[in-house]
This record gives sequence, structure tokens and C-alpha cells, in this order.
Amino acid sequence: MKAKYITVVLAFSVFFTSCGLTGGNAVKPYEVEDLMMGTVITQRIYGENAELAAELVSERMKEIEERMTVNSPGGEINALNEAAGEKSVALSPDTFFVIEKALQFSQRSGGAFDITVEPLVKAWAVNTDNPRIPPREEIDRLKASIDFRDVLLYEDKSAAMLKNKGQAVDLGAIAKGYAGDEALRIYRENGIKSAYVNLGGNVVVLGSKPDGSPWKIGIQDPRGSIGEYMGIATVADKAVVTSGDYQRYFESNGTRYHHIIDPETGYPADSGLISATVITELSIDADALSTAAFVLGPKEGMELIGAMEGVEAIFITRDKKVHITPGLNESFKLNDESGEYQYAQEG
Ligand code: AMP
Ligand code: MG
Repeated sequence: MKAKYITVVLAFSVFFTSCGLTGGNAVKPYEVEDLMMGTVITQRIYGENAELAAELVSERMKEIEERMTVNSPGGEINALNEAAGEKSVALSPDTFFVIEKALQFSQRSGGAFDITVEPLVKAWAVNTDNPRIPPREEIDRLKASIDFRDVLLYEDKSAAMLKNKGQAVDLGAIAKGYAGDEALRIYRENGIKSAYVNLGGNVVVLGSKPDGSPWKIGIQDPRGSIGEYMGIATVADKAVVTSGDYQRYFESNGTRYHHIIDPETGYPADSGLISATVITELSIDADALSTAAFVLGPKEGMELIGAMEGVEAIFITRDKKVHITPGLNESFKLNDESGEYQYAQEG
């Protein structure tokens, strides 16, 4: 299901509502909302050229969506999936880059992150109006086809092929991350110094706020209503990306079935985490790592994050314990009126 491409210009009217954290600054952003990549994309841009930059970013995101969305007619991922087991398919540098990155994160996460999870994503259909619990035999059969090593990349001819018939890729866990980086690249190229873009929960900020103070990004309370935060991260020039079991899910007999699949079990990941936020410079990295960490769980997820330079994380476990990397000691604050969330006792 593809979201219709619409642009709503909200310039000079909305003032940091979704962020909920007004800086008390008189400078107002140029604000645009697009319905794309299956979500709402909000851009808030300061300074001259804001309108032009916003337009260029909207166009670029539409292009990325068309290339990378599963089942997008004429799209590259669509073509790759249709040619599985048969032939290689030419890819734009965009799609090639995103797949190459995805495979690196698969390696790093020991397969917790795996774009070949598509057949299982389709079987569960969590992102659709008709989700279902597939029978165990079906899960076992589909699970056997999941293997990121079967995505063959041909750098010389910028092409890719899926080794076996029935295999398919889904870039849903990484494409929005890439789009966030592209937004920042376009802002910079247009002389923008300060901007905020939110792609359905993937937040990326350029520079600081116009008054020079860092951005304050609310971290969604995974059991609260939308816009209710359990903490605040203070950042500049960073991506803040969260994977959570509350973003897309259905319930059956009191059990929650969410959209992030553990390739090892074929079921929605049950690692003990209900939310994994990753903060780092590139939003493509933050996007892949937050999904990977969500599948791996608190212990292995922290090991994955800790092994990388300049990557910070906030994990929330099912029992509402909050784990943060040491680099966030100063820049993350619990802001939870209910007092439900508490730092985990380490060690
Ligand atoms: P995110 O919200 O970034 O964590 O991405 C979740 C989306 O990525 C899902 O809706 C699926 O389309 C896809 N996906 C689900 N499980 C995985 C996984 N283990 N590795 C990579 N992509 C996945
Ligand atoms: Mg992701």
C-alpha cells in the first residue's frame, strides 16, 4: 500500500508542537508535511531558501520512495524481488548504497537485521488492514528463505540479484534513515544552517536551533499516547531514531504482535525491549541499528552499539527499565511525570 503524495504547507502556523518543546524563540520555521513512505514527514526549516529546500527534499523523498518501496510499480526493489532466482536487476546508486549498507548491518548484527525478511513481513501483514498470525508451518517454511547472504551485489554493473526464487527484500527498516540523510544533504547544499525533519519518528536535525541552543528531542513513552515523552535527548547535527513495538502492531487474545520480525524465530521480536532509540550522525545508521538492537535485546543490543564509535542508545525494557550508553549521561534526561520509568541498575 503506497501513501499518496500530498504536500501540506503549514508555514508560520505551527511552532514546535510535535516536539512539544518550545524554545521561546521568535524565529519561526518554514514547515511542510508530506504523507510519504507510509508515514507523515515533517520538515521545519529556518532561514533563507527554506521554501525551496523543503520542495527539493519533498521531491527527493518521493523519488526514494518510488525506488525503494516494496510493490511500488516500476520501483527497483519491486523489480529485484520479481526477478529473484532468475536474473540480476540494475539499481540506481541510491538503492545500491542502501542495500550495501543493509548488508553491512546484517553482518554486524549477526543477522538480527535482515532485509530478506520480506516474505515474513508479508505473511504477518502487520502494516496492513488485514494482519494475521501465520500458522507455524508457514512461518517455518518462509523462515528457511531468509538469508541476507543471498543478496548478491554486483558493484561493477550497479546491480543486484536474489539467489533463490521466493526470496524478497524490504527496506522498511532503513530507507527512511537514508531519506533523512538526503534531506540534510539538500539543506546544506541550499545554505540552510538549521533544520529539523521528522520521518514518522525518525528525527534528524541540522545544526542547532536558530538561537544556537541544541535541539531537544522527546523520546516517545512506548506505553503512552502519541506525543507523550518519557525523556528528552539534547542534540545537534544528529539523527534520533526509535524502533518500538508500539509503532505498528495488532493484538489477538491479549498478545501484541508488532512489525519487527526476529529472523531467527520468524515471530515478532521478543527480546525484552519495547523501544530502542539510537542517536548518531547518520540517520541510515541510526535506523538500521535501532531495528537491529530491538531484535537483539538489551544485552546484545548494547554490545552492538558499544562496539561502534559515536553511537549512543536509549533502550526501554518491558519492565520499564531504561538503559543508556555512558555518552548520554549529560544529554539525556528522564522526563516522566508518572515515574514509571527508571534507570536500570547496571552490573
Ligand atoms: P523499523 O521501524 O525501522 O524498526 O523497521 C521495521 C520495518 O522493517 C518493518 O515494518 C518491516 O518492513 C521491516 N523489518 C521487520 N523486521 C526486520 C528485520 N529483522 N530486519 C530488517 N527489516 C525488518
Ligand atoms: Mg530501522
